[in-house]
Amino acid sequence: YTAKRSRSGTAIYDAETDSHRSEQLGVIGELNRAIAEDELVLHYQPKVATGTGELVGVEALVRWQHPDRGLLPPSEFIPQAEDDEIIVALTDAVLEMALVQHRSWREAGAELPVAVNIAAGGLYDNAFPDRVAAALARHAVPGAMLTLEITETSIISDPAEVQAILDRLRDLGVKLSIDDFGTGYSSMAYLQTMPLTELKIDRRFIRSVHESASDEAIVRAILQLAAALNLKVVAEGVESAAALAVLETMGCSYAQGYHMSRPMPADEVLPWAAGRIRVPVGS
Ligand code: C2E
Ligand code: MG
Ligand code: MG
Ligand code: MG
Repeated sequence: YTAKRSRSGTAIYDAETDSHRSEQLGVIGELNRAIAEDELVLHYQPKVATGTGELVGVEALVRWQHPDRGLLPPSEFIPQAEDDEIIVALTDAVLEMALVQHRSWREAGAELPVAVNIAAGGLYDNAFPDRVAAALARHAVPGAMLTLEITETSIISDPAEVQAILDRLRDLGVKLSIDDFGTGYSSMAYLQTMPLTELKIDRRFIRSVHESASDEAIVRAILQLAAALNLKVVAEGVESAAALAVLETMGCSYAQGYHMSRPMPADEVLPWAAGRIRVPVGS
């Protein structure tokens, strides 16, 4: 794994990157400590069925409980981590926490599928499928309870290598989702070959879908494409009842967004679900 490939596939010297180097090294060093000392925490955002409001799963979103700087959003450290080998340890730590949490919800009676975001550097790692398999086995979680969210850009940088890795993940029963769909500049050939289960429409097309003809046209096109390819669709960034209503009318089955809930600490998820919508009850 080389850091540059994860971003663009080309290694171009970039003065701006260089000037941030020492600052980045600081973040990376601190992240090593953060992982070792359990400073990373996951918040969870509900994914709901647009028609019934039923909770169908949650997305795990990492935050850093920094001793001096407070609770840091992923934008403060994920971009730096993605350009460094530490993304492997970070990905493992997040996966571990998400599976432990899934188990804990299951013990409380809720079988809640959980989605984890995987950066390119976490995906381009031949040992990754084996580590996912080991983590699932360690926590006795069926593969189908786990969705991995990846971006178009990370597929494009080396389709042959990623195909092999995704096929192995799919063999575990793990579900594969394309995050921020519609924002990568790509051929769509990968949609025919990669073993995908879901597309998440980027929030830039969703926020104003109820009042923008061009957003609506794009969302319709994605829904049609997904139906033809037998992929589920999740609309991200649903911020209003108006957007949710239009999405339901258009036939978009699933949604996430501030209108339903912001990402929240794990211990708030079941109370939220019980108060607002039905939780699928597991064995
Ligand atoms: P993402 O995977 O596309 O996650 C959705 C982001 O949109 C989250 O931001 C979420 O809080 C935010 N969001 C959800 N609903 C709404 C809405 O209605 N309106 C608006 N404006 N925003 C909404 P967050 O938690 O700050 O995460 C940002 C990104 O950081 C994620 O985008 C993902 O790419 C990355 N990320 C988060 N956790 C992880 C992780 O564990 N590993 C990796 N590799 N990346 C992560
Ligand atoms: Mg995501
Ligand atoms: Mg997204
Ligand atoms: Mg994103």
